[in-house]
Amino acid sequence: MGKDKRDRDRKKTTKVKKQVKKKICTFCANKVDDIDYKDVVTLKRYVNEKHKIAARRATGACARHERRIATAIKRARCMALLSYCTSR
Ligand SMILES: [Zn+2]
Repeated sequence: MGKDKRDRDRKKTTKVKKQVKKKICTFCANKVDDIDYKDVVTLKRYVNEKHKIAARRATGACARHERRIATAIKRARCMALLSYCTSR
């Protein structure tokens, strides 16, 4: 009886490895080098509901493309293709 309890306790404490799905940068996958600021449909996927630029962990973009996305979004905002903010 005592042994069973110990077994159960061990099972509880055993760490369960979380399977993290690795996100692939869509721009790397499609071999897109330059992100066009006029491509609003693509850029809209990288802003959240408040039109903020989405975090890299949310989009799965690589560092290089994340920077280019950010630049493209800022350019698009300046050209009034995207909005800066919707909360105000
Ligand atoms: Zn990339």
